[in-house]
Amino acid sequence: HHEETRLFATTTTTTTTTEPYKAPATEIERRRNLAIISHPDSGKTTMTEKLLLYGGALQQAGAVRQKAEQRATQSDFMEMEQERGISISSTVMNFDYNGLRVNILDTPGHQDFSEDTYRALAAADNAVMLLDAAKGLEPQTRKLFEVCRLRNLPLFTFVNKMDRPALTPYEIMDQIEAEFGLETHPILWPIGDGDRFKGVLDRTTNIVHLYTKPTQRGGKAEVQEVPMEDEDTLKSLIDDQELFDKLLEDQELLQELIPPLDMERVMAATQSPLFFGSAMTNFGVQLFLDKFCDMGTKPMGRLAADKQEDEGEFLIAPEHQEFTGFVFKTQANLDPKHRDRLAYVRVVSGVYEKGMKVGHSRSKPAKKYNLAQAQALFGSDRTTVELAYPGDVIGINNPGNFAIGDTLYTGNSKVAFPGIPSFSPEKFAYIRSPNPSDYKSFRKGMDQLLDEGAIQALRQRNDDGGGPLMLAAVGQLQFEVVQARLKNEYNVDSLMEPLSYTLARWVDGGWDAVDKADADGKLFGIMVVQDRWKRPVLLFRNDWKAASLAEEEKYLELKPWSQ
Ligand code: GDP
Repeated sequence: HHEETRLFATTTTTTTTTEPYKAPATEIERRRNLAIISHPDSGKTTMTEKLLLYGGALQQAGAVRQKAEQRATQSDFMEMEQERGISISSTVMNFDYNGLRVNILDTPGHQDFSEDTYRALAAADNAVMLLDAAKGLEPQTRKLFEVCRLRNLPLFTFVNKMDRPALTPYEIMDQIEAEFGLETHPILWPIGDGDRFKGVLDRTTNIVHLYTKPTQRGGKAEVQEVPMEDEDTLKSLIDDQELFDKLLEDQELLQELIPPLDMERVMAATQSPLFFGSAMTNFGVQLFLDKFCDMGTKPMGRLAADKQEDEGEFLIAPEHQEFTGFVFKTQANLDPKHRDRLAYVRVVSGVYEKGMKVGHSRSKPAKKYNLAQAQALFGSDRTTVELAYPGDVIGINNPGNFAIGDTLYTGNSKVAFPGIPSFSPEKFAYIRSPNPSDYKSFRKGMDQLLDEGAIQALRQRNDDGGGPLMLAAVGQLQFEVVQARLKNEYNVDSLMEPLSYTLARWVDGGWDAVDKADADGKLFGIMVVQDRWKRPVLLFRNDWKAASLAEEEKYLELKPWSQ
């Protein structure tokens, strides 16, 4: 029966002798994980699908979307996704390819859910920036790039939709260099664009890959490989004098102008390997996958707070002899029939084994949980995971114990990875329950959603929970999800009253700094509130006001993030 096969988490206070849970080096070495960042409509869904297709995880392109649609019909909450044609929930997909295990961390494309994307990036070790060749950098790419930069994630750039009229590759390279200060190193170089997109030059092998459009919808592209030296064959196959000449010219120019590929710089995120292709027509996708598998980094360790020193951090490497992992996302009611809630855990070190007991960083006194069963999610399919290794993501049943940022670990010494910082909110509204009789359910629902990290809460200074509750979000849709979930899962109505503030700044200088600024009359028109941890937050009506206050009253130490 379903109930019995679900993960079962029990609390226990008895300590058992822990076994070493060290991960085998081969399992660490063979893992590659990535998150794709892009502006909506650049082709992320299509690209993901094609990677799965070439990775052998899908028989036919289109299946990811179909799965998403099937799932979307399962609940009202999911209906919202479907109606708006957006993906709210990120899933993790994996496949084995040439002996490697590739994990793709899907990230929601809609900007209102950039907070979830941010968290998915905390679990990733490589990022792929997908651009629309006609548009280059777009607002959402810029925002997400900043997050990758904060994390120093190695960044691969794939310029998509080359089968449409495109900016020149040089224009795109210049744009990335000028705006991000990031040097690109072309690995695949396009031959033509739009209807004349013929294929790509692989600059690492000097072999040209010429494509013909797949005859069958969803099929793979036919490829002909011709070495650059074989000019006669190349010329006749490209069958376009101008493009052929341009290819020779570009090749020479690139050899002269482009600094060499430097893997150390790629790992330090100061150089980005650059690819051109077309996900829809499959051009360049498999080549990209091959190169990514070669060049992408294996799972990295994570810094944990140092308990002995009470300050500072130390690195927990994947080779560490105990299991550690952190929750980077929680999700409720994937399947309303079972009302299940999942916590997604990124394994940092060691081995996850079915049935293992783990410590929990946040609980005081320290609790142990029995992870009887974890799941791997693939679209709407789930499979039970017996073993998971560093770099993997597992979904564990979450009856309410696990929140975003929590660390799970084996062994007797407590491990706590630092929390995942939240995105700076830009929308604010009061929320309340219109029916006094619903108050308890409303409160319970809100508490759970806040624990989950679905949204942030702000209150008046010194309010211990009795005063008005304000929600802060990155986008309007997050509010709507909260309201829909309160209704579906807790059966309570809610009323929202939007506020006209558009920007939040955390005051690192603390409450004394707030008092000083207030006494000096500097906080006129600014709302002073506190976050869940009673830290001071200022709300502004415009960017300019925030910028001038930060500039003039330096002691406030205004920060866009809550750490
Ligand atoms: P997402 O919003 O980033 O997930 O983008 P989708 O994968 O849903 O793609 C957005 C639109 O662009 C869809 O209509 C796709 O068919 C189309 N598209 C995706 N990749 C390509 C491509 O390589 N070439 C062309 N011409 N269209 C593409």
